[in-house]
Amino acid sequence: MKVKYSYLSRQFDQIDPILEDIRALVKSGDFTLGEPVRRFEDSFAKLVGAKYAVGVGSGTDALFLSLKALGVGPGDEVITAANTFVATAGAIETAGAKIVFVDCDKKSVIDVSKVEKAITKRTRALLPVHWAGQPPDLKALLEIGKRRGLPVVEDACQAIGSAQGKLRGGSTGVAAGFSLHPLKNLNVWGDGGVITTSSEELRDKLRLMRNHGMSSRDEYAFYAYNSRLDSLQAVVGNHLIKDVEWITETRIKNAKTLDAGLAGVAPKVKLPPRDPGDRHVYHLYQFFAQDRDALHAFLREKGVEAKIHYPVPLHLQPASRPLGHKAGDFPEAEAQAKATITLPVHQHLTAEEIAYMIACVREFYGKRR
Ligand SMILES: *Cc1c(COP(=O)(O)O)cnc(C)c1O
Repeated sequence: MKVKYSYLSRQFDQIDPILEDIRALVKSGDFTLGEPVRRFEDSFAKLVGAKYAVGVGSGTDALFLSLKALGVGPGDEVITAANTFVATAGAIETAGAKIVFVDCDKKSVIDVSKVEKAITKRTRALLPVHWAGQPPDLKALLEIGKRRGLPVVEDACQAIGSAQGKLRGGSTGVAAGFSLHPLKNLNVWGDGGVITTSSEELRDKLRLMRNHGMSSRDEYAFYAYNSRLDSLQAVVGNHLIKDVEWITETRIKNAKTLDAGLAGVAPKVKLPPRDPGDRHVYHLYQFFAQDRDALHAFLREKGVEAKIHYPVPLHLQPASRPLGHKAGDFPEAEAQAKATITLPVHQHLTAEEIAYMIACVREFYGKRR
């Protein structure tokens, strides 16, 4: 059996309704910031529970523009997690600020007990990540932000639909960045991103920033960027946004089945702690494995497209050399990088595929008892 990581071929087996709308868009010529973008932004804001949404070119731009709009620049520091995707740190660097990493906790989200120690006179923002689709400790982060006068920008690129108690991911900080990349839970046919905010002032600034600072065709409020959500991608997004609840619930259900099936393989397989107060939307289904690399190779041989997110944490990457980090600086992120493995958990998996993946993991450890 082959269990593929990507579901795109299954997701888009019925594309005619989308193509019909694209045909209409092409005929209208409404290619930049037109009606489909406005409609998508309205639905997205509602979905997330924020007042406003601003469509931009990518999730990376969503984070970068949010930081810029908050005035982050050279001489400033922004705090984030060491175990995130490269784009989180890249957004800080390209905004001109210094990246300040903090270790993660057992749940693989930023360790809030270490955030305060990382704050200096130069800190200008906190950029926690909803890693794998699971919220960081939003309550604690908002409290620290409030007390220290620091805006919290959520990297919710992996986490459309996540929540912690009553706090909904992407609606709690000053702003949040989402990605519509083809492998994210709500995906379009290329790149796209969204910023959510409940500040009208920030929304207005971001709308200008993504469009050359143009307040009208002939007036430029400030010099800025070209990072618009493509109308064509918004057309695709307007179709798929209707499926987000189903996508999320199916991923959660698949993850529960995997959790139950793998629980018996402990201690060789360790599941991250699952907090009942969190709505983890399982962009990634990860666990920690003994002999991880051998398990990874075995699963691949068996046709299960398992992945590693990621084998080397950001502070040990060549890109981080100017920051002067060394092995041992963030022990939890380093330990997790050695043990973590990701199984497909997408909404188009069949019950047989899920059972097969569990059987393969059991077989691997069975052989080594
Ligand atoms: C995917 C991702 C991004 C970047 O999104 P793009 O749309 O690919 O630019 C940023 N942060 C995290 C945590 C991501 O997973």
